[in-house]
Amino acid sequence: MSEYYQHVLVAVDLTRDSGLVLARAIRIARRNQNARVSIIHTLEPLGFAYGGDIPMDLTSIQDQLDGHARDRLAEVADEHGIPREDQHVVVGMPDAEIHRFAGERDVDLIVVGSHGRTGFALLLGSTSTGVLHGAKCDVLAVRVGADGEATE
Ligand code: AMP
Repeated sequence: MSEYYQHVLVAVDLTRDSGLVLARAIRIARRNQNARVSIIHTLEPLGFAYGGDIPMDLTSIQDQLDGHARDRLAEVADEHGIPREDQHVVVGMPDAEIHRFAGERDVDLIVVGSHGRTGFALLLGSTSTGVLHGAKCDVLAVRVGADGEATE
């Protein structure tokens, strides 16, 4: 295992916190001899949400959602200089898809956001908890404050 991270995967939910989480990941990548940075957003499959309840073909709606997600991801990622080939929108459950991507692309650090929730949710959101459990590499949860500023 290298002393430095070589491939950092940033998982984003496309909320306005995403740019903060990405910026933090990029700073870490720079400190790791300019590690590669990939960014991923997962879309829940419509068929999964609605099962067989809706008697219609959901393909074109799924394609539209996919297109919107790609546009929004590009807005966030382009601003930080992430090349298009390192921007990924995939359909599936976030933790499973993030783990799969990380395994297939030799990712050695996954970066997620975490909210300052109180109570049972504690510091981690449900997605970040899911990503942490079962990850085969390091996972960094970037605390995103209530005011939207990533905290050190
Ligand atoms: P949550 O569990 O929804 O509070 O989200 C916490 C973190 O999980 C976010 O800041 C992202 O890093 C990640 N995340 C949530 N939803 C997604 C998604 N659909 N695709 C990729 N990452 C996500």
